[in-house]
Order: sequence, then C-alpha cells, then structure tokens
Amino acid sequence: MTFENTSSFAQSLDDQDILRNFRNEFYFPDNNSRPINYLCGNSLGLQPRSLKNAIENQLQNWEKLGVEGWFDGENPWMYYHKEVKRLLAPLVGASELEVCPMNTLTVNLHLLLISFYKPTKTRFKILMEANAFPSDQYAIESQIRHHGLDPKEAIVEVKPKDGNFTISQEDILEAIQENKDSLSLILFGGVNYFTGQLFDMAAITKAGHEVGAFVGFDLAHAAGNVKLELHNWQVDFACWCSYKYQNSGPGGISAIFVHENHFNNPNLNRLAGWWGYNESNRFKMESGFIPELGADGWQISCTQVIPLTMYHASLKLFEKAGYMDTLREKSVKLTSYLYFLIQEVNNALGIEQYKIITPEDENQRGAQLSIIAQSKGKEIFDELVENNVLGDWRSPNVIRLSPVPLYNSFADVHLAAQVLFNVSKKLL
Ligand SMILES: *Cc1c(COP(=O)(O)O)cnc(C)c1O
Repeated sequence: MTFENTSSFAQSLDDQDILRNFRNEFYFPDNNSRPINYLCGNSLGLQPRSLKNAIENQLQNWEKLGVEGWFDGENPWMYYHKEVKRLLAPLVGASELEVCPMNTLTVNLHLLLISFYKPTKTRFKILMEANAFPSDQYAIESQIRHHGLDPKEAIVEVKPKDGNFTISQEDILEAIQENKDSLSLILFGGVNYFTGQLFDMAAITKAGHEVGAFVGFDLAHAAGNVKLELHNWQVDFACWCSYKYQNSGPGGISAIFVHENHFNNPNLNRLAGWWGYNESNRFKMESGFIPELGADGWQISCTQVIPLTMYHASLKLFEKAGYMDTLREKSVKLTSYLYFLIQEVNNALGIEQYKIITPEDENQRGAQLSIIAQSKGKEIFDELVENNVLGDWRSPNVIRLSPVPLYNSFADVHLAAQVLFNVSKKLL
C-alpha cells in the first residue's frame, strides 16, 4: 500500500477502518482536558469504559451474598475463570483446557520452569534471546542455581550480530544445532520488549523439538498484539501478563498455556496447591494431590475474582472485535504507516535523526516501533510528552511508539509524527 503524509489521507484510512469505533470503548488519559495521543499500549493498555460497572457488580455480589458468592449469583466466583478461559483461548490459539488465568507473570514463569526445566548431567542448557526482559533473566538464573548449576554454563544467549539490534532466525536455528545434545529448554520472548522483534515461534518450536528440548515462550509483548497459534505450533508452555496489549489494568492477572500433550505427563514436577486440585473433589479436602485436568492443574491459590473481572472486561472487547484476525490486519497497516511517517520526518529534517531498529518486515514485528534518536533523545522524548504524545523511553536513546489497533487511529499516528517533526525541528 502507498501511504501519504497528510491528515486527510490518515482520515480516509480511519473512515475505512471497521474497528474505528472501538476507541470509544476506552478512556484516554488527558492533560488539562486535552486528550493524550496514547502510543504506549506496549507498557500499559487503556482502561475499558465497561470496567467500572463490572467491578461494581462484583462488589455488589460480595456485599449481597458474602461467602455464598462462590456458588450463587449470576456468575458464581467458583466458575468465573472458565468464562475468562473461553474468551482467552482464541486470543492465543489454544483450547480452553490449555489456558488458565492466575497469579502474575514472573511467578507463572517460575511455576512453569519448575515443570519444564528438568536438567540432567548432559542436558542442562537453556537457550534464550540476548537482552531478554530483566525479570526473565533473573527468573532463569535463579532456577538454574536452584538446581545447583552455574548460569554462566547453563545459559546460551543468541545475540544480534554485525551491528544489528535484532537477532537473525538463522543464528537461532544454528545455536539450537550447536547445542543439540546439551539443550534442555528453549525460552524465548514472542516479541522482544526492547526492539519489538517478533520471533518465528513455529520454527523455533519445531527446531527445539527436533533436538529433544522443551520450548516455551514469554508472550508479555505478543499476546493481544500478534496472531498466536500455540496449540498448532506445538509450543510446550507459555505465559504472559495481560496489562500491556490486553488492557487488564496495572499489575493485572497473568495467564499460562500448557499444551495438552503434557496434561497427563506424571514426570512433570509441579508446585501444588488446593486450587489446582481436581475441581469436583476439591472440597472433600483430602490428602494426596490429584491435579485438575489441563492448565487449571497448575493453579496454587484460590482464584482472584477482581483481577479476573478486569481481564474479562477487556477480553470481551477482543471477542467483539473478532480477535487477532481483524486486529492484526489493522495493526500491520497502522504500524507500517508510522514506519513510513518516521522516514518522512527524517526526509523533512534532511538527516537520519531517527533509526528504527524494529524489523521493517511486517512479519517480524508487532505494533511497536523502537526508534533510536541519534541526538538529544531524552529532550525530544520529554518534549513529545509535553505536547501530549505519550510513548515510552528506554535508556540510553530509544523511543518506543506502539499504535494499538483496538484504540489507536491513523490520525493518532499522523499527528504523532507531525509533533515529532516539530519538536525535532525546534530542538536540533
Ligand atoms: C512486562 C514483562 C514482564 C513483567 O513481569 P511481571 O511479573 O508482570 O512484573 C516480564 N517479562 C517480560 C518479557 C515482560 O515484557
């Protein structure tokens, strides 16, 4: 598609956008009652307008029913997570049994590593992307030490080469081959938080299985952003937070995926708790842990009703929008438009001030563009915020902008690029 750098062109794309009304389902923050151009959904998604009512309803249930709310009322708390599973499964390409909302992300990563990282004398290595999100690095290092091993020997990082910021697929496959006899687990992000690079999860999973390793993904930046087929790709396990592209609120509930291939595998360790116990017999309170079938069997503590309510409100909107098929189509267009406009800013400035490190290939990225500002990055970023364009800043020089297909418009993107040009012109 050929883009034009005019507000009327942006408007015409918005007019054709079948998802354009979804932005009215969200609250946009404002600055002295001027709405903020919010391009920060990679960090914290916006609040669905339906949420207050949904929470109010749960508070009423609690007020009116007390403990009976577990089994009484419109949506008894005891089974409420099943409704969330129903809405969630299509978002990640899984069956309802394969997903379960619970806990928070890094906690879930630990729980899944307990099950899927089973180092032996010969197979003990974990392959991951260099510069993974710090929490994932800390989780993996501590799991390795927990097994009495040395992270320096057990972690294999695939690094970008030749001055690139992103990692080539060949290098990933080569690293898998090089470590084929010692690899226990591959744990990658679906989309890297810093560069916005989207990895080929199907190919990585296949290559990992061919050498006998388990393959799992942290989908914090991928779930609700790109199309996922976790079941068909044969991914062993995955987890994600829901407060980024899935708008479940600060510290919102996380969710896990466990492939049905592992439901009845008695060799997987788990850290057990009463809520993972077989549901129909849970309240017999007997000793001897018998897991519930599916991802639910990884639950430990009692279900978190208010965080689930927050997740539910947003997932309803994904369902209404037709999930990732429709959303991804718009997302690719929206982000490609931003890519084009950043180049236009460079052209107008007459210098290569902004270098986009996110891959140009739309199949290797989600909504986010990570943009290196060659000079005065922080000042430019602060001035953008001052002018109501809210992205996020990563030291030392990267601005991340993420137009989100559920609530951002082509006009938002065009306006942001215009402000970027004006601010650059002023400060450079
Ligand atoms: C956002 C993010 C996290 C955050 O973890 P929490 O446990 O929710 O604080 C972890 N890993 C990745 C890859 C992330 O992008």
